[in-house]
Amino acid sequence: MTRTATTLPASQGAAWRLRLGETLTIVNTHGSQVIDTWALNADDLSEHSAMEHTRSKNSHVYLEEGLAVMSSKRRPMVTLVADTTPGRHDTLLCPCSAEIYAELGQPAGHRSCTGNFHEAIGALGLSLPFTPASLNLFMQVGVEADGAVRREPPVSKPGDSVTLRAEMDVILVLSACPQDVTPINGEGCTPRDVEIILGEAAA
Ligand SMILES: [Zn+2]
Repeated sequence: MTRTATTLPASQGAAWRLRLGETLTIVNTHGSQVIDTWALNADDLSEHSAMEHTRSKNSHVYLEEGLAVMSSKRRPMVTLVADTTPGRHDTLLCPCSAEIYAELGQPAGHRSCTGNFHEAIGALGLSLPFTPASLNLFMQVGVEADGAVRREPPVSKPGDSVTLRAEMDVILVLSACPQDVTPINGEGCTPRDVEIILGEAAA
């Protein structure tokens, strides 16, 4: 299997075209970086990853190994085929945005996962008039019995990785979350680089 590696820099986004069966592995170099993740049908951008269908189909509020991200047309888009983290991956909370950083008292222009999504697909010559809900890889969001949610730092360790396999031809969009106000990217509140490894489809 040919594998190519690249770096997704801290606070940046990028998009990759994956054909059916190809894989993308995210190595959490520093351990605590949250990666907001979206899939788009490469042939029809109106079909996109949909967390409400993902939770409904999986009957689960987290993405765990073996579970698929479902589309807005309730078809599997990518499957989490390998996961060395001890944690669970959040499907509940929205990607960070200009509005959230304004709520946090940050000056205008703070990078955001929402901005990164549109920048990344724009680099491929694509656009969408809205932002789908994100899968939040490595992000720890606990749910209390009364329904309250707890935002916690990641529990992954340096070098932990997750691998997604395309279940259709997709555009996979990743954002290394720029959140540096709350500890969602670790107690140091410091966004970090991650490594991306692309893998061919199994023969
Ligand atoms: Zn973010």
